[in-house]
Amino acid sequence: MSEEPQLPPIPSITDDWDRKKSFFERKNSVLKCGACQADYTRAFKPGDFVFKELTDEECEKCQRRRLTIIEIYSEWINPKKEKK
Ligand SMILES: [Zn+2]
Repeated sequence: MSEEPQLPPIPSITDDWDRKKSFFERKNSVLKCGACQADYTRAFKPGDFVFKELTDEECEKCQRRRLTIIEIYSEWINPKKEKK
């Protein structure tokens, strides 16, 4: 009983998977200031959610604490393309 089962060749999906793994997700939060109406994006922070009022963060435009998160989105970064 030394016959080994003949497995079909493993398809090359592992290549794709490796490529996908090398990407990393970058999350961003879009903030809107209730004082000066500015909106801008900053890096997502743990605990962020849409419509959260950020009473402990200052608006980067007017330095008042009237920020609300209006949107959270993520993008996939390819580290090979992004050179620093
Ligand atoms: Zn502001």
